[in-house]
Amino acid sequence: MTGLKMEKMKKIQLIEQYLEDLYPNPKCELNYKKDYELLIAVMLSAQATDKSVNQVTKVLFNKYQSLEELKDAKIADIIDIIRPIGTYNRKATYLIEIANILWNDYNGKVPNNRKLLETMPGIGRKVANVVLSEWFHEDNIAVDTHVDRVSKRLGLAKNNDSVLEVEKKLQQVYQKQNWSKRHLQMVLFGRYQCKSQKPLCENCMLKEICQKENKD
Ligand code: SF4
Repeated sequence: MTGLKMEKMKKIQLIEQYLEDLYPNPKCELNYKKDYELLIAVMLSAQATDKSVNQVTKVLFNKYQSLEELKDAKIADIIDIIRPIGTYNRKATYLIEIANILWNDYNGKVPNNRKLLETMPGIGRKVANVVLSEWFHEDNIAVDTHVDRVSKRLGLAKNNDSVLEVEKKLQQVYQKQNWSKRHLQMVLFGRYQCKSQKPLCENCMLKEICQKENKD
């Protein structure tokens, strides 16, 4: 093995160990009880925090307690509920369309199939990855804003890599059976420590290998 490869392996070991130390049992922070609630919550979480999504879904899923009720909801009522998370007009339209698709085409169940999921409005690769790993326990690395930022700061991906390129690189870095766990750990690390603004670098054990300039 070349010295360069050894160095890369050591770096990955260090990252994985630190993530394990910080978040040994990482959990998705979106609240949901049913498969469609998860799908809708992840769709709503685009450009919104999990905390704000949880606030609106608490009201939403309390008012509409089944998919059948949700598919027949009035768009103005949905907009009123999800207004705090932004881009609510578009998301409200998606939400009712998704509820109708699930009801009419999939017997009210979220399909365990990436291609089918990605044909639904507002559902891209990241949402599909989260749903497939969270509900169906499929090994996946969803690259959201946190995973993207952390990967680039730690040199696991290049600054100009697309989210798909980041995902492919992380799939090479981590063992497949750890993909979903590493995704959750990197989300938490990005959300609470390696934050976009003012990351908490002072006590970070990855400071030596981090490529961010001007570490705070
Ligand atoms: S040193 Fe700072 S920027 Fe680098 S990984 Fe740690 S928290 Fe993130």
